[in-house]
Amino acid sequence: MYKAKAYSVASAKSPFASTTIARRDPAAHDVQIEILFCGICHSDLHQARNEWSDVMPTVYPCVPGHEIVGRVIKVGPAVTRFKPGDLAAVGCLVDSDGTCPECKAGLEQFCPNFTLTYNFPDKHSGGVTYGGYSDSIVVKDHFVLKVPSNLDLAGTAPLLCAGITTYSPMRHWGVTKGKKVGVVGLGGLGHMGVKFAHAFGAHTVVFTTSAGKKDDALRLGADEVVLSRDANEMAKHAGSFDFILDAVAADHDINAYINLLRRDGNLTMVGAPEKPLPVAVFGLIFKRRSFSGSPIGGLPETQEMLGFCGKHNITADVEVIPIQKVNEAYERLLKSDVKYRFSIDMASLK
Ligand code: NAP
Ligand code: ZN
Repeated sequence: MYKAKAYSVASAKSPFASTTIARRDPAAHDVQIEILFCGICHSDLHQARNEWSDVMPTVYPCVPGHEIVGRVIKVGPAVTRFKPGDLAAVGCLVDSDGTCPECKAGLEQFCPNFTLTYNFPDKHSGGVTYGGYSDSIVVKDHFVLKVPSNLDLAGTAPLLCAGITTYSPMRHWGVTKGKKVGVVGLGGLGHMGVKFAHAFGAHTVVFTTSAGKKDDALRLGADEVVLSRDANEMAKHAGSFDFILDAVAADHDINAYINLLRRDGNLTMVGAPEKPLPVAVFGLIFKRRSFSGSPIGGLPETQEMLGFCGKHNITADVEVIPIQKVNEAYERLLKSDVKYRFSIDMASLK
């Protein structure tokens, strides 16, 4: 074991503070990575404040962070894909059983025995996993991704969660040229959803509660922007969407969006609000619409997404911050005031 520097919260109501944590020394299949940038996902906030206590209660101290980009420091003797000095990335998963049908299909996000990057039982330490708000991390090689060399690293980190979480359902539900696609909520996930929908050639419509984000939405690739609190603007799009991706982190009226789907259209939730969202089933029944959810993505698809981003020069729009500003960043996340992802420059932790 060795000591790594990190930022943690001690309880749901505590601010982040500097700390040290124990990490394992790299074993045969492990890659040790010096973390250069880590994105701040709204899931980090939900977890740090124990807002998902029913599903995944938070164990304190908690070190969040699952949008990790860095440089390999050391590899175990069985590692062949990486060597010291290589760029490397880690997302939301750090382990799975590798033997179940989901793992065999490369869909590790559905493995019943997966290990999440933070706040998850850690079979190595006997405690919980600690995430990327830290100067280094040790991860099994299968869960370490290659980073295209042409991309800005601060903007690449958010691809590991915000990127794959929006890319995967769009691929699954066939977002292509000729489709009308909506993205609800222009935050970290939403702005990546807009970039991907646009890159896939879809007619892309952003739904936002923030009038001030209209110009940015168009610049990011939207063809139209709808202020979702304006019922007249919403009504103009009734029954017209093939697919809507909802990336809202808070309570909101989901039925208003279900009614915008055409026959057989799908609304996928990637946003994970604290409380259940009531669904009016007749909105689904009459047009055979479907309402579903989607979690992150598997390792092969995450690597595919990074390759797609490399080819199309896609990264997140980031505000780079030192780790000392993480508490302020969380307050701004709650006000929907981030353009459009915070990326922590981990050099600030040295
Ligand atoms: P974020 O950057 O805070 O963005 C959320 C956006 O939702 C805001 O920018 C805002 O957009 C909109 N919004 C906020 N409050 C709202 C309200 N009361 N009513 C309507 N819209 C509201 O968050 P994020 O990091 O993108 O994460 C979004 C959600 O996805 C979180 O719940 C997170 O936990 C979840 N998530 C899920 C997965 C998964 O695997 N499914 C992975 C990562 C994250 P406008 O200003 O445009 O309205
Ligand atoms: Zn995330």
